[in-house]
Formats: sequence, structure tokens, C-alpha cells
Amino acid sequence: MDDDYSQRLKAYYEELRRELPAEAMSTDDADRVIYSVDASKEQGFADVIVSPKTQDDVVTTVALAGRHRIPIFPRGAGSGMSAGSIPMGRGVVLNLAKLNRIVKLDVANLTAVAEPGVVTGKLQEEAEKHGLFYASDPGSAAFSTIGGNIAENAGGMRAVKYGSTRDHVLALKCVLSTGEVFDTGTYSLMGVTGYDLVRLLVGSEGTLAVFLEATLKLIPLPKFVRTALAQFSREEDALSASAAIIQAGVIPRALEFMGEEALNCVRRYREIPLLKPEANAALLIESDGAVDEVTRHEIAAMKEACEVGENALLAWMEAQEKEQRETLWDVRKSMSPSLYEAGAYKIAEDIAVPRASVREFVAKLRELVGERVRQPIIYGHLGHGSIHVTFVLEGKDDQSIPAVQEAVEEVFKLVVSMGGSISAEHGIGLTKRKYLGIELSPTELRLMREIKRAFDPAGILNPGKIWEE
Ligand SMILES: Cc1cc2nc3c(=O)[nH]c(=O)nc-3n(C[C@H](O)[C@H](O)[C@H](O)COP(=O)(O)OP(=O)(O)OC[C@H]3O[C@@H](n4cnc5c(N)ncnc54)[C@H](O)[C@@H]3O)c2cc1C
Repeated sequence: MDDDYSQRLKAYYEELRRELPAEAMSTDDADRVIYSVDASKEQGFADVIVSPKTQDDVVTTVALAGRHRIPIFPRGAGSGMSAGSIPMGRGVVLNLAKLNRIVKLDVANLTAVAEPGVVTGKLQEEAEKHGLFYASDPGSAAFSTIGGNIAENAGGMRAVKYGSTRDHVLALKCVLSTGEVFDTGTYSLMGVTGYDLVRLLVGSEGTLAVFLEATLKLIPLPKFVRTALAQFSREEDALSASAAIIQAGVIPRALEFMGEEALNCVRRYREIPLLKPEANAALLIESDGAVDEVTRHEIAAMKEACEVGENALLAWMEAQEKEQRETLWDVRKSMSPSLYEAGAYKIAEDIAVPRASVREFVAKLRELVGERVRQPIIYGHLGHGSIHVTFVLEGKDDQSIPAVQEAVEEVFKLVVSMGGSISAEHGIGLTKRKYLGIELSPTELRLMREIKRAFDPAGILNPGKIWEE
């Protein structure tokens, strides 16, 4: 493709330069490197970085790319864990972070309209100022974008009660690689006309369309929040307690789990005085509601559920004031940063199993890994069966990588056999595309490929993601 591609790129670049402000385009080598990595630690090298500030400029960038057949790699904050935004192969990184207006906060209709570059935490903050709540809360909310969250169908801490990103998206305004702009979905809460394209686009990982604007569902801000940290001496007790909580007739707003290696990883990273030395597992539990009594009642019911088995619960700490609640959250929120210090390289998987099967899954996982490689760090959003399984390695040339990869493939087969998914929330991107066939049937794969062709006939939107070229 090279000579022909270079000609097309040159023509594209020249035309784009006439249409976009100069500061929206960069071919600077530093930018080409910086905008070609994400949290997955994969590395590409884009030809051009385009950072438009207006929806019209995004449309122009995409439409011209369609006409010149130049690959476009949409990018939010680059916090993705499956290399979704990485330009593998040649093309243009479309950095949407500057398209960041909150267009509307509609108190009467409990709705927000936001551009894709709005940082999720910023939307949460703005909604709160109006007594409203954007309930979706990925661990990366402080820096990831609404567009990236929608493209990945991000989950997070509160998905157990409020659902993942797809449960908060009412409508989308998009541009296709043909340059066509369209709105899909409704401003109303209800609407079932035709196929649900919104649901299809959520989680499409930048491969079907580029989002220009999203209409999002808000709810009244819960006035009361109560948090508890439960520490256990045995991992299996924490896992049983989690299942017991769900069966106790309470849906917590968060139910996070950290296993033995996870707690040790955090302990090595920083001192957390409230963490008992004998604790080998922990649950971070939260309840919210409009009435204080409700949160008190729910937390009490969840404590009772944790008191399963003799000596199971080592320590129970509870808080209602924001500052104290944040201290309890410290243990869980230290997890992601502690992983960066745990080893030079990691193979990190995010899987999902039906929530009542979590204890069984973890036992099978530990047995499956056995002694062949170091046991993984296990933690996750347990309330909805989402578990992060991270294998820590010395570096990209670690001798045990083939054995880990073999184990990972077996874990995926196990997960699917239990009715789960090989990706709970981080997406397929580059890193999981070779495993698609473990979960999806030939019929599903065929339909999905046809959908991709219908949306993106030139195949220029995020090529190589989800699908192996
Ligand atoms: C510390 C940490 C904690 C995390 N915690 C969670 C968590 O709890 N739950 C969770 O689900 N994830 C989590 N993540 C992963 C990540 O933050 C999410 O996947 C997030 O949704 C990515 O958003 P982003 O803006 O960084 O998107 P990027 O990484 O830039 O892009 C992600 C995907 O979105 C596409 N994309 C971006 N913008 C658009 C657009 N406007 N139109 C079309 N496609 C677009 C890209 O092409 C790419 O495929 C975490 C990551 C980190 C580093």
C-alpha cells in the first residue's frame, strides 16, 4: 500500500490543511508518539494527529479520510486497557479530547447532552451542582472521556446498581466514514422505533462511527451514602460474603473485591494503616439513597451477610462522612496505581461471570493456573461478576509469557463455559481480538462483520480493532 498510501496521505493532508485551523493538526514526532500509546502499553506511530475543537471539523476530518481512504483512529483520553485507540499501521489519530462542551444540563428532563471529549468526572461534578447524578463511574472517571466510555461501554464501581455506560446513553450524534452525520435514539426515556442503533454503537470501540455528541440519562443525586470496608482472613469467605450480600435482597451501589495478592500489592505500594496485617481479602461495600434510614438498613443487612462462617469477618469499618468514606476507598483506589509498580510487564484480563458463580470461578482459576506460573492478582467489581485477573511479569521477554498466554486462553474458555464474557468492560481492541471465536458463534461473527461493512464500507474506522485484519 505504501507508495499509493503516501500519495493519498499527502492529498488528504493538503486538503485538510485548507479546511482546519493550523493548531488542530500536528505531524510533530513527539505528538505522533504521545498520541500513539494508551494504558495498555501497546505502541503505534501515527502519521498525523488531528485535534478538532468543533463538530464540523471532526466531520471534515472523517469525511476527507473516507474519500482518500486514510485510516482514522478515534481517541479520547487514551486510558483504554485493550489498545482501542492505538494506531497500529498507518493513519490519523483523531484526538477528540478538545471537543469537550457540556451542551446542556436539563434538570426538568434529567438529561445531559455532552460532546465526546468531556471528562466523565467533570460531567459528574456539573450534574451534582444541579442536584443530579451521572451514575456511571469507571475507576478512570477523573481522566477518561464520555466518548471513550461509550465506545468501550465502560463499567466501573457503581455498575452493580446503576448499570454500565450503555444504561445511561439515550441518543448519539455520529459521523460515518462516508461523511454522513446522523442522530439516533431519542431525547425521551422511551422509544422503540426500528433497531436499537444506540445500543449497537455503545461498545463499538470506534469501529463503526465517530461520536459527536451524546444524550445521557441523569437521576436525582442520592443524598446519603454509607461505605464499609470488610476484611477477611480467607479469600473464599469474602467471595461467599459477596454472594450472600446479593442474596440478602440488597443491591449495593458498589461491591468491590480484592484478593490476597491484590492486598499484598497495595501493601507494597503504600502503607494503609486501616488494613489488618492478617487480612487476605477485602470487600468495599457502599449503599446510597434518598433517605438515611435506607442506607443504614442496607449496610446493616450487608454486614450480617458478611458474617458468614466462623471467624470469617476479621474487621468491619463503616463511614458516612465524605472524608472518612474516602479513607476506606483508599484501599481499593490504590489498586490500579500499585499495579504499575508490581512488575515491568503485565498481562491483564477483565472477565465476567454470573455473579453467583464468582467463588466457584476463582477456585477453578487458581487450580487452572496452579504452579505453572505465578498466581495472578485478582480484584474487581464483584457485585456484577466483573473480575480483573492480572499476571505480573518481569518484562516483555519474561520466559513465562507463553505459559501465561496458554493459561489465559484456558481461563477464557472456562469463563465462557460458565456463561460469562472474555471482556467485562475493557473491550476487545487489539489485545483480545484473537480470542473472539471463543465467545462468539460463527453466525454472530458473520452478522457483526456485515454490520461493520454496512457502517464503514471503506474500512477506515479504527482498522485492526476487534477484527484481525
Ligand atoms: C486507572 C484506570 C482505571 C480504569 N478503570 C476502569 C473501570 O473501572 N471500568 C472500565 O470500564 N474501564 C476502566 N478503565 C479503562 C478506560 O478508562 C476505559 O475503557 C475508558 O472508557 C476509556 O476512555 P478514554 O477516553 O480514555 O478512551 P480511549 O482509551 O482514548 O479510547 C477507547 C476507545 O474509544 C474509542 N473512542 C474514543 N472516543 C471516541 C469517539 N468520540 N467516537 C468513537 N470512538 C471513540 C477509541 O477509538 C477506542 O477504541 C480504567 C483505566 C485506567 C487507566
